[in-house]
Amino acid sequence: MAEKSIIIVGGGIAGLSAGCYARMNGYRVKIFELHHLPGGLCTAWTRKGYTFDGCIHYLFGSGEGQPFNQMWQELGAVQGRRFVNHEEYQRLTDGTKTLTVYTDPDRLEAHLLDLAPGDEEPIRAFACGVRHFAHFDLTALYAKPRPLFDALDWRAFGAKMMPFVPSLLTWALTSMKAFALRFQDPFLRRAIPQMFSWDEAPAMMGMMLLAYMNAENAGFPVGASLEFVRAIEKRFIDLGGEIFYRHQVEKILTQNRKAVGVRLYNDEVHYADDVISCADGHATIFDMLGGEFTDRTIRRMYDGHLPTHQMVQVSLGVQRDLSREPHWVTHLLDEPILLAGEERSEVSIKHYCFDPSLAPSGCSVMEIMVRTNYSYWQRIYGRTLYDSEQSQISDILVDQLKKWHPGIQADIEFTDEATPLSYERYTGNWMGATCGWLLARETVPLMILGVPKTLPGLDRFWMAGQWVEPGGTVSLAAASGRNVIQLLCARDRRPFTASLPEN
Ligand SMILES: Cc1cc2nc3c(=O)[nH]c(=O)nc-3n(C[C@H](O)[C@H](O)[C@H](O)COP(=O)(O)OP(=O)(O)OC[C@H]3O[C@@H](n4cnc5c(N)ncnc54)[C@H](O)[C@@H]3O)c2cc1C
Repeated sequence: MAEKSIIIVGGGIAGLSAGCYARMNGYRVKIFELHHLPGGLCTAWTRKGYTFDGCIHYLFGSGEGQPFNQMWQELGAVQGRRFVNHEEYQRLTDGTKTLTVYTDPDRLEAHLLDLAPGDEEPIRAFACGVRHFAHFDLTALYAKPRPLFDALDWRAFGAKMMPFVPSLLTWALTSMKAFALRFQDPFLRRAIPQMFSWDEAPAMMGMMLLAYMNAENAGFPVGASLEFVRAIEKRFIDLGGEIFYRHQVEKILTQNRKAVGVRLYNDEVHYADDVISCADGHATIFDMLGGEFTDRTIRRMYDGHLPTHQMVQVSLGVQRDLSREPHWVTHLLDEPILLAGEERSEVSIKHYCFDPSLAPSGCSVMEIMVRTNYSYWQRIYGRTLYDSEQSQISDILVDQLKKWHPGIQADIEFTDEATPLSYERYTGNWMGATCGWLLARETVPLMILGVPKTLPGLDRFWMAGQWVEPGGTVSLAAASGRNVIQLLCARDRRPFTASLPEN
């Protein structure tokens, strides 16, 4: 059979995954990536001997034999890789009381009851939810794309989902912010909404995350995110794929309502039988395709009403050994601080001493993470104010840091700031969003029902990645790339095959 050709826009996780599965199924593949590195948002950078991770706090599928692990094996990402599994997800403190978010539901339950015996009802309900969702196999939503389901698949899917319908209806639509209102204890009412970093997070997501972590299936890849991505890039090249860095796609070319290729910003034109965009959804639909292939549903999705997540990350290389300190602490502030035009009452600080390969001996990598608003940064971008605002944010946050790590400013060797504009510039993601559509009450139904991987009125064109997998994550982005190749194989009437690397 003559090899059909595919062009993939974007060499992030979804693009690399789609590329690998396309090669496993006999398609010729070219990936065009705007950056000089693979991985997109899944990245890390090394400065002055410190490696700063920009992505994976937890990888679904890190545990052998567990959900998503087979996919990572096929992509050659986990073989021989060590993962760090934490017993504590993070701690939250107001300076007087501390909530330790243990991943083990029994331990978490006992600890919460110690903190607030009067809140037994919501505490037991939460721990029960973590135990319950430990049996929920998220891969049921991604093993096979829904358009390919036959009657037997639907029956099997229904049987898997049925026991979880009542708990999904309760916990998928309850945000951590709303759940906190069930607590009487004033400290827990403040801490619970921040347990999973954003207060709109559905309780179900948090329960599932803890369940995966407790099963050692959501670890941190030693060596950090870029090394993890490099393994998938190698798998793609070993399979015979071609990847072109610093090749930004300007337009997806169409003829008679079929995608036929791409034109790059350097004016090169490349043709293929199919085009898969694994780049930002908004830019794909409204810029690369000029908004020609949309309908009301798509326009509504991108009208700005769905939640997205933006953050500032200040990365520090410090000449101090923090390995005896808890690895992740969110401080609940007495007095809010003004950051990028908004008051913030929480500051999250993480160190990476659990992976000694990331810093020189006796030193530590620290990251301070704060949620922020895209429009503020956009307003000041391109003016000297942008640079001064970045360093001002570092100064304010380091000033806070001194309270919890006295004298730390003298030990800081390197400082670096990433704003939503940095994410937007380096990866093209709309409004610098860190995970596409943020998982929240409004987006959970889209996650469960699935977002189409095609556009209305356009043949031979597909989309994969975080903008068609609400909630994002590297695991769903990779599963998305796999799903698109399953759809392509079905259209071409060839059996979908997935193989493992030879060694
Ligand atoms: C700070 C942070 C923490 C995170 N933590 C976690 C975590 O703990 N666990 C987890 O699983 N996930 C996490 N995520 C989310 C995860 O990184 C993303 O959901 C996932 O990597 C998205 O992959 P993608 O391939 O869909 O998109 P992207 O990574 O955005 O890849 C798109 C690629 O397309 C390229 N591109 C864009 N436009 C063009 C163009 N015109 N031409 C050519 N190339 C183009 C970009 O450069 C990029 O490489 C985190 C993300 C961030 C930012």
